[in-house]
Amino acid sequence: MEDTNKSCFLCGASDCDGIILNGEKICKACEEKIVNTNVEDPDYDYYKDNVRIILFSEHA
Ligand SMILES: [Zn+2]
Repeated sequence: MEDTNKSCFLCGASDCDGIILNGEKICKACEEKIVNTNVEDPDYDYYKDNVRIILFSEHA
């Protein structure tokens, strides 16, 4: 059973709505950041790298 009360993997926010991606929580704010951040944005690498970590890390 997924723990939806986990804190956000990216910003650490708790008590927020979000999605569970490969066992890690991403809050709505970060999800929107990921979607809306483009390649020229300085934050792009940060989000891209963290999403990659989530997607390619192994969770039981
Ligand atoms: Zn977040």
